[in-house]
Amino acid sequence: MKAIVIHAAKDLRIEDHPVTDPGPGEVQIALAAGGICGSDLHYYNHGGFGTVRLREPMVLGHEVSGHITKLGDGVTGLSIGQLVAVSPSRPCRTCAYCQKDQHNHCLNMRFYGSAMPFPHIQGAFREVLNADATQCAPADGLTAGEAAMAEPLAVCLHATNNAGPLLGKSVLVTGCGPIGILSILCARRAGADLIVATDLSDFTLDMARAAGADRVINVAKTPDALAPFTAGKGTFDTLYECSGSEAALSAAIPAMQPRGVIVQLGLGGDMRLPVQAMSVKELQLRGSFRFHAEFFTGVSLMQKGLIDVKPLITHTIPVDQATAAFELVLSRTGTSKVQIEFPQAW
Ligand SMILES: [Zn+2]
Ligand SMILES: [Zn+2]
Repeated sequence: MKAIVIHAAKDLRIEDHPVTDPGPGEVQIALAAGGICGSDLHYYNHGGFGTVRLREPMVLGHEVSGHITKLGDGVTGLSIGQLVAVSPSRPCRTCAYCQKDQHNHCLNMRFYGSAMPFPHIQGAFREVLNADATQCAPADGLTAGEAAMAEPLAVCLHATNNAGPLLGKSVLVTGCGPIGILSILCARRAGADLIVATDLSDFTLDMARAAGADRVINVAKTPDALAPFTAGKGTFDTLYECSGSEAALSAAIPAMQPRGVIVQLGLGGDMRLPVQAMSVKELQLRGSFRFHAEFFTGVSLMQKGLIDVKPLITHTIPVDQATAAFELVLSRTGTSKVQIEFPQAW
């Protein structure tokens, strides 16, 4: 079977890997779709991010779906041919954080396609994937592409949980890549009233409007466009910061209401913060990292038609052209979520 393996920056190879049978409690999956995520892109472009460096070849990918081809011993509730979204979150379920229900902070996390630990945790961009049945969310009724969106959707649902109640709230979303757009969908679903989105690209802002943002602002064209929102100590109760840009975060602070909540989702390296302005407004800065149970919630919300991710999938590219797919994401032109399509031979 083919696997998409990163060896070093800009050294992406499609390799032949052996297929093994699923073990007890596992299922074998013929991969159908795999979304390219910001972290995959960092490995491709830079060979890592921050202090995390590739030290051995690693299969990329953690946003995947596919059809079940084999059931290991003891697996119930799943069936051959069924489409499943596969959660890349594989906590140990025994460490102190797992016991506190903080699975995303597991000390022994084996999240697909991560070079944080060594040996690296191999990823899921492979034609045949053996996964624990407990990782699989039945995705009947969805397309393979939608099912593969469950992972970034779960990231945004987790951020929404961290943001606290949103019913009737005013929300600002800075940065309208896939995570920003999914944040708009999640905030709306959670009851947000006013949603304003900013970005530097008209293409992604059109997508934000289609996703339900009430107003979109191109801050490249109108840098002080948030000024009207700063009156009376500010407008927004909640900020989803999805750009990782210091400038975006700093510009949003005067538009935040006192006691507002900032959820930092964009990871663009270290930032300087206007701590004095944040402190006198009693703003709350909250992190957000991965997800766990939200993965299954996301699949369920998509199945019920309560969140529609289809418009985000702008490109579907065959596995043989994986390098072209990564270059396309890097180009940042007319793309939102780019997915790799795996041949369905089962
Ligand atoms: Zn991802
Ligand atoms: Zn654990």
